[in-house]
Amino acid sequence: MVVGHVATALAAKKIDHRPSLGIYMFAACFADILFSILLIGGFETAEIVPGHTAMVPFVLSNYPYSHSLLGAGIAGILLGGAYWFWRRRLRSAITIVALVLGHWVLDVVSHSPDVPVGLSGPYLGLGLWNSIAATFAVEGLLFAIGIFIYARVTKPKGRIGRWAFVGYIGLLSFAYFAGPFGDPPPSITVLIIANNVACWVTVLWAAAFDRYREPV
Ligand SMILES: [Zn+2]
Repeated sequence: MVVGHVATALAAKKIDHRPSLGIYMFAACFADILFSILLIGGFETAEIVPGHTAMVPFVLSNYPYSHSLLGAGIAGILLGGAYWFWRRRLRSAITIVALVLGHWVLDVVSHSPDVPVGLSGPYLGLGLWNSIAATFAVEGLLFAIGIFIYARVTKPKGRIGRWAFVGYIGLLSFAYFAGPFGDPPPSITVLIIANNVACWVTVLWAAAFDRYREPV
């Protein structure tokens, strides 16, 4: 649920505007960032299976460290704890923990029943991705709400703050809505590279334009 995760990070600015949007984005996407890195070493695995769900042509066959509720709990405590030690702001730290845990909840909604609770199951998944229309409706609405909230609680300091934000939303929207209609990646190596690049562009671009915006 890529744009769903992005939406939670955007909306978190309303709860506490102090942390950079890049930090919120890192927390909301942390499970996917870790997954993309663990794929490189083969510690977690995915296979390309066109048509596995209507939205994504992958079987996420083994990803207990990055995507279990247990892993999310540990990661949330580590990231939220690290932020608390750095800034001593409990509200921000709790928001970060909530974003990390929120990733797990949203993935349970969208994935097939492959999202683990513990390291070896049980596995949950409501299968929203089986329907492109339902996915676009639910995830698209979440994304729109996130954009709306962020645009209301921040304002651009200048042209960069406005257009870098608009460009970010445009690129993510295009990648998201075109995604299910494109060809699956030709190999797992391409998938791994694409995942890693997509994760870091999502985080770093958000961090960049957020510097050129200020709270309303
Ligand atoms: Zn995920």
